[in-house]
Amino acid sequence: MRYLPYSDYMKKKYGQKIYKLPVSLPVSCPNRQDGHAGCTFCGAEGAGFENLPSALAVSEQLEKNMEYIGKRYGAQRFSAYFQNFTNTYLPLGQLCGYVKEAMKADRIAEICLSTRPDCVSEDYLDALSEIGGQYGKPVVLELGLQSISHRTLRKINRGHTLAEFIDAVIRIKRRGMEVCAHLILNLPWDDDSDAEEAAKILSALGVDQVKLHSLYIEKNTELCRQYEAGEFRLISAEEYANRVVRFLTFLSPEICVQRLVSRAPEENTVFCNWGQSWWKIRDRIEELLEERDLFQGCRFDYLNRDYYFWNIREPRGPHRSGEK
Ligand code: SF4
Repeated sequence: MRYLPYSDYMKKKYGQKIYKLPVSLPVSCPNRQDGHAGCTFCGAEGAGFENLPSALAVSEQLEKNMEYIGKRYGAQRFSAYFQNFTNTYLPLGQLCGYVKEAMKADRIAEICLSTRPDCVSEDYLDALSEIGGQYGKPVVLELGLQSISHRTLRKINRGHTLAEFIDAVIRIKRRGMEVCAHLILNLPWDDDSDAEEAAKILSALGVDQVKLHSLYIEKNTELCRQYEAGEFRLISAEEYANRVVRFLTFLSPEICVQRLVSRAPEENTVFCNWGQSWWKIRDRIEELLEERDLFQGCRFDYLNRDYYFWNIREPRGPHRSGEK
């Protein structure tokens, strides 16, 4: 493999393959409440197309999904993935109850929680890290960033900027918990250099995992209205594949790449993966890496380069003179 996939990363961490089991909680999102319209791409179901109803107990959802995924893939151990909306928007006591319920479930190795960078306060992080310690199972925070550009974030009505993301990562990592960052690499207002910069920022912050999404446009969203009104242009599948390749080459080789392309059911969308199966785009990305003999982190040479500063103030060494 020319990048670090989730399966290898988890095998190294647990000595065996770990499968994610989606869990829905009865929660919404602060960006969809009190007069906030939500992110322009956010549909009625949040991100959980395949999830079981949140009315079912956490243990029941885990049991049903374990049975299905266990049989299908011969899976033995799992990660409970609280996927929908902003899980840390629940009252703290309620959230802790759900997390403990999942921690107690048989064959659960860790818990992942999806949330927003501006919704991870200190008391929540303290409680989650304490529960993780109590049960000896890690809690991973999955943070939606989507774009590093504050202009794009404003366009898609995220309600936060890059600064909140940086702050959240620093505070999560300070507690020894892992972070997975979610990015949409083909938002219409971003270009290849934004993807490159995103890889550099995630690497500099020491984020543990990244999940890349190709933008899909759900019906009945503000983004769908803009799309149908012709208010923006989307890049092609080939341009997307090239952008992902560029992202990967600048990304630290230590960061796990959970996903390269989105998966969304066609019936809910007006645009999804250029009308192709997600795996064709993944295959094209892998093919490009192969063809050009590139791999994750082959351009990861930009951190700790103190000679930049020395060059400006006091050039050192023959190979450094004249460098800018
Ligand atoms: S943060 Fe997530 S759940 Fe909230 S509006 Fe945006 S996409 Fe939807």
